Amino acid sequence: MKALLVEKDDDGKTHAAVQDIEESRLPDADVMVAIEYSTVNYKDGLCIGSGGGLVRNYPHVPGIDFAGTVEASDDDRYKPGDKVILTGWRVGEAHWGGYAEKARVKTDWLVPLPEGLTTRQAMAVGTAGFTAMLAVMALEDHGLSPDKPEPVLVTGASGGVGSVATAILANLGYKVAAVTGRPDNAGYLEDLGATQIVPRDDLAEAPKRPLDSETWAGCIDAVGGTMLARVLTQIVYGGSVAAVGLAGGPQLPATVIPFLLRGVNLLGIDSVMQPYDNRVRAWERITKDLPMDKLEAMIQPATLDDLPKLGADILKGQVKGRVVVKIG
Ligand code: NDP
Repeated sequence: MKALLVEKDDDGKTHAAVQDIEESRLPDADVMVAIEYSTVNYKDGLCIGSGGGLVRNYPHVPGIDFAGTVEASDDDRYKPGDKVILTGWRVGEAHWGGYAEKARVKTDWLVPLPEGLTTRQAMAVGTAGFTAMLAVMALEDHGLSPDKPEPVLVTGASGGVGSVATAILANLGYKVAAVTGRPDNAGYLEDLGATQIVPRDDLAEAPKRPLDSETWAGCIDAVGGTMLARVLTQIVYGGSVAAVGLAGGPQLPATVIPFLLRGVNLLGIDSVMQPYDNRVRAWERITKDLPMDKLEAMIQPATLDDLPKLGADILKGQVKGRVVVKIG
């Protein structure tokens, strides 16, 4: 079978290349899946490259997401022919992942492909889109509704999380303000449903005061760092920010004043260890609330051979929307 194998030299340098490898090298687990599609997330960029501290052992097959068809199963929950999705659980980091024609994984890590979604569409969503949906659900659970006059802010908007978040929120009737550092992507973001484009520089500086004017009904933040600190000062009374990513850095140079004087909520979003029931709920919501024509507009098609370059591109913030890697 073909796989993107990352090997480590004696001098500690990693190299990724497509190779033919024996199926018997796959790690031991309950379910064998013939992979049809995978994708490229920020974390994949790290695992295709130096490992970013995520990869445990080499040689390694990255790919934190895949969708495909069950080929063999030791567990009654799946039988050959079932269509499945895998995201998270440290697959593609600690366990061999989706950049191969086959994967052997634990039953608990899989979810059935929801009716109405193809394996290609599922990977256009991938971890990035799944996480965007979790963020929308968390904001709703904390009182966000489309009747608020202020827009919902999406940072890192032309990336994977941001693109899907923009399309879902717009489809649900929210006004969406999309933050981007790439002005050329304004048309793309408006097509996804953004009603306002916010230049990255407008929010790039650290907050000058603990509270700014109440501008955003809520926020899905893929950036972190000073941008998140700034956004917190601009959220309406009782509003929430779903903290998803750290494309702009892991620090949070903020004060607690927005929490204390405006009742602002900072909601952490983790896609990797999400319990099964919430995963199924999120995939059902994706099928219902993400317009498939908007998803199609985000897709950049790719093959296994494109992955070394795409991995480097995503780390530089140069990927737009969602890469779909055709595997089998
Ligand atoms: P992408 O690279 O596709 O998107 C990130 C976007 O952020 C870029 O496209 C760019 O958008 C913007 N950006 C990049 N660098 C900077 C910067 N220095 N300052 C401000 N904005 C920047 O990645 P994903 O969408 O896949 O992931 C986004 C983040 O979310 C990552 O940090 C990732 O690790 C995290 N993540 C977390 C998950 C979780 O479970 N919590 C799951 C999935 C992802 P633009 O050009 O429009 O400004």
